[in-house]
Amino acid sequence: MIRAKRNKNHLRINNIITGFILTIAFFSCGDNSKTTTTTTTTTSNLKVIKVIRNEFNPDSAYKNIETQLYFGYRIPGTKEHKQCSEWLLQTLKKNCDTTYLQATTTETFDGSIIPVYNILGSFNPNAEKRLLLASHWDSRPYADEDDSHPNKPVPGANDGGSGVGILLELSRVLKESEIDFGIDILFFDAEDLGKSQYPNSFCLGSQIWSKTPHIVGYKADVGILLDMVGGANAEFYWEGNSSQWGYNTLAHIWTIAQELGHGNNFLTKSTAPIIDDHIYVQKFSGIPMIDIIDYNSQDGFADHWHTVDDDLNAIDKNTLHAVGSTLEHFIFNPTSDLKQ
Ligand SMILES: [Zn+2]
Repeated sequence: MIRAKRNKNHLRINNIITGFILTIAFFSCGDNSKTTTTTTTTTSNLKVIKVIRNEFNPDSAYKNIETQLYFGYRIPGTKEHKQCSEWLLQTLKKNCDTTYLQATTTETFDGSIIPVYNILGSFNPNAEKRLLLASHWDSRPYADEDDSHPNKPVPGANDGGSGVGILLELSRVLKESEIDFGIDILFFDAEDLGKSQYPNSFCLGSQIWSKTPHIVGYKADVGILLDMVGGANAEFYWEGNSSQWGYNTLAHIWTIAQELGHGNNFLTKSTAPIIDDHIYVQKFSGIPMIDIIDYNSQDGFADHWHTVDDDLNAIDKNTLHAVGSTLEHFIFNPTSDLKQ
């Protein structure tokens, strides 16, 4: 597959700490058009962020990705997959108040029966208001976008590994923190076994969990999915489905990212709806989950997507920092949906 080269000539927002201000009118009256006016001032432009936090460590997030790849390919049914699932659960156990393992089996598009491990760690398990943070942790068995190696497995550093790496690091940060609401970190299995010609053949773990969550009647007020959140020069657009049911969350997160100076990654532009775990979560559980994903309708996914090049070389700590720090600030400066 040939994709156009990405255009990096986007608006770069100066970090507010430097004292430069960009007055930005985003999210105007329900359309996604972007207008900007630049002024220089000595006052802070922090509007959404009241609590500044800098505990998120991108080196640690990177190391979490490295560890996942150290186990090997996380292909359901393999011993590497099983071993990595045990490490994920143990790591969440160290940091979270409670953990859950949803272990079951399911059938893939080609009739194979595979084990599925959805892994979840909770903070404040009894709190009524809840934030659900999710990512898939399995890796794709075939690099079918790779012209030279279509039958080799995908290492899945970015596709799978990056979201998990960031969320594990956030679980370490949250262990040390006081939070008013509940937070659940959920790693979906079997997201990436599908083939596009077979409907619903992707996202098998999230389909199972959304229909039968770890606790009967489980609800979250806000859901955020991370998918391919570690690539160099990643560009996160407002994904079409997310805009439909998670507008407030999107607007809030993108504003935080801009205030932190990550406007080069979090772009206020829309992209076509895509199929990912969040659509099944919304459909079957009713949780309005948005998707932060490096994808846009013009350029598609990054060039390493579903190729053997999705290894550690595809990971950029600047992107891990942009996403992790934005999420950390979202947690400590949440939307009203998460206020008790
Ligand atoms: Zn994938």
